[in-house]
Amino acid sequence: MAGRFAPSPTGDLHIGNLRTALVAALLAHTTEREFIIRMEDLDLVTASPEFEERQIADLAAVGVVASAEIVRQSERFELYRNAIDRLTESGDAYPCYCSRREIRAEIEAAAQAPNGNLPDGAYPGTCRNLTTVQRSEREAEGRRPALRLRTSGETYVVDDMVAGRFEGGIDDVVLARADGVPAYNLAVVVDDAAQGIDQVVRGDDLLSSTPRQIHLQRLLGLPTPEYAHVPLVLGDMGSRLAKRDGAITLQELVERGESVSAVRDSIAMSIGCQPAGSHPDPFTMWAAQWSLDSLSRQPIHLADFDLAVSSDDDRPS
Ligand SMILES: [Zn+2]
Repeated sequence: MAGRFAPSPTGDLHIGNLRTALVAALLAHTTEREFIIRMEDLDLVTASPEFEERQIADLAAVGVVASAEIVRQSERFELYRNAIDRLTESGDAYPCYCSRREIRAEIEAAAQAPNGNLPDGAYPGTCRNLTTVQRSEREAEGRRPALRLRTSGETYVVDDMVAGRFEGGIDDVVLARADGVPAYNLAVVVDDAAQGIDQVVRGDDLLSSTPRQIHLQRLLGLPTPEYAHVPLVLGDMGSRLAKRDGAITLQELVERGESVSAVRDSIAMSIGCQPAGSHPDPFTMWAAQWSLDSLSRQPIHLADFDLAVSSDDDRPS
């Protein structure tokens, strides 16, 4: 049994990411699970070992340490290829030649039509039933296909430990990009099962992807973990944290004069822990008093943290 935190090493973690990681580590620990950190570095263009190193250091600074070796998706292509091959052999996959722009245009054109409870940006199914001739025409134009999952309007219910009951539809998700790189949902499902992860804690922006992942788990005969989708930390504008919100990474906050322990304690307090101050082992202290019930179900705002996040002095006056 294991829980996990699975960042993409494509930049520094912000305090919202660190907060979710702390929830994941505490929940795994207090339910007697291993805690795995998995680097989702499939996109070799944007992922870098340098960011991985900095993320691991920032996680450790707020008390989040893996209980097993770090796992990297870039070292596990073979596993994903096997799963993709199985889905192809069972007839659950088909080639899709659409560009992003074509998909966007189709979604806009269909915006008036009822779409059941498909996730936002759901693929409209354009290439699902192409004939062999139509496929060869597209190949002849030099188009390289992505591989998509063939679905038929299934919906799944997620009994989420934080978000409650969520019902959502699925669409024909990408299994492998046109350049052959395995896609996010597939890799996550394969890894969670391969690593014995039966508890998934992550930001609630991924709640709508969970039915897709449950569907893939069923097709591949893999178990479904329990889920806890944690409300995101929002910036001043009420949208997800971004650079415009000011100092949002540990390093930026330290540059503004915050101490690492003040940032750590501020994050801990935002999930219902007591400040650790100069306690020699904050994580153990928190684990002794924390439960998932301590976590607020409401989104939290950056301004709720008692930190020097303001970006005012960066703005021209
Ligand atoms: Zn297509």
